[in-house]
Amino acid sequence: MAGIKPGVIALFDVDDTLSAPRKAATPRMLEFMQKLRKVVIVGVVGGSDLVKISEQLGNTVITDYDYVFSENGLVAHKGGKLIGTQSLKSFLGEEKLKEFINFTLHYIADLDIPIKRGTFIEFRNGMLNVSPIGRNCSQEERDEFEKYDKIHHIRPKMVSVLREKFAHLNLSFSIGGQISFDVFPRGWDKTYCLRYLDDFQEIHFFGDKTYKGGNDYEIYESERTVGHTVTSPEDTLKQCSSLFLGKEDADS
Ligand SMILES: [Mg+2]
Repeated sequence: MAGIKPGVIALFDVDDTLSAPRKAATPRMLEFMQKLRKVVIVGVVGGSDLVKISEQLGNTVITDYDYVFSENGLVAHKGGKLIGTQSLKSFLGEEKLKEFINFTLHYIADLDIPIKRGTFIEFRNGMLNVSPIGRNCSQEERDEFEKYDKIHHIRPKMVSVLREKFAHLNLSFSIGGQISFDVFPRGWDKTYCLRYLDDFQEIHFFGDKTYKGGNDYEIYESERTVGHTVTSPEDTLKQCSSLFLGKEDADS
């Protein structure tokens, strides 16, 4: 080994890039990542919080990688040490948050849909998750809402109202899953973590959802990164072997 390449970092998405979605990464993948660290600085960036990322990549994740960015980098670790945190509460402030939450709850109160349950807004560290039916509906009720929403466009209509009403807050809205949408400040996607990587001349990013609308799209397209699309953890291993280890076969 010629030692670690200066100014270069290999940065990995977690779900479907290092591990199967929401599952633990295989021992083979974890070993490979440690092998890779001998030739290049390695970082991971995931949308989940550190607890979930630790379940997937192991309890020693913050020391196993040079950089660990959970919640897209709202929580940032370097060499096992916390180097930054950000939250919706401190970013927007209580007044703006309250204004948004009040308006959203009023909107939902006035919404005439077949059924409503509870937990219409879930407050998370880096986002609000808004659900017109309420998050604690049953699976059957979820399925019904999804069908109803496809016909009546409840979520898209609500998002367009909020987008216009709160244009001054510079928010992003993302409709995903069956019953809700996420609200977060613009730029709080995976590109958020790049602010910690100013010292690198070459940032190789590996992710699976690099298409428009996917959660790797912005960082993949960023002019700060060299983007690599992978189709599975297996493919990540293969691409990294040839790119950084100069081998076609990861096991050789
Ligand atoms: Mg992914």
